[in-house]
Amino acid sequence: MSKVTLLLGGNRGDRELLLSNAVKAVTKRYPLLFKSLVYETEAWGGIAKGPFLNQVIQIETKETPMVLLAFIQKIEAELGRMRNDHWGDRTMDIDILFWGDDVINTPELTIPHPFIQERKFVLEPLKEIMPDFIHPVLRKTIRVLDDECKDISSVQVYKK
Ligand code: AMP
Repeated sequence: MSKVTLLLGGNRGDRELLLSNAVKAVTKRYPLLFKSLVYETEAWGGIAKGPFLNQVIQIETKETPMVLLAFIQKIEAELGRMRNDHWGDRTMDIDILFWGDDVINTPELTIPHPFIQERKFVLEPLKEIMPDFIHPVLRKTIRVLDDECKDISSVQVYKK
């Protein structure tokens, strides 16, 4: 069994409904271990317009990373993601952040996800559920990575 951490989020349509549907779709197939609060986060990278709702969850699986990747891509497609711009607006994006302590570098997958340490919208929800987890490549805890991160984009717990 591997403990796998995912980031889900989007900034188009009914963000709350889409996020909860995405979490439901994932946790129908994989047992849920932890779930962060929902965070409202400023669009990153300057192309997307309008804030995202993001949430981090940890699930458990016996499957391979490629099987999980195919599954999350199916959910993204079902929830109507439009692949226009890189870092552009999206209905639902699901990233694999960590796969236990594994380090995976293939053409299809980079795990740990390469941008975790640069983005507050990833680090803040991660810190909520696993502050003492040690990044298997950077060898620092999430708490330390969050303290060191220079990203000043707004990340706030989402209140309806
Ligand atoms: P994105 O635009 O972030 O949705 O990128 C999707 C592509 O990134 C997919 O086709 C994946 O093959 C690739 N990818 C590489 N590493 C990861 C990861 N850790 N989690 C999700 N997708 C990944």
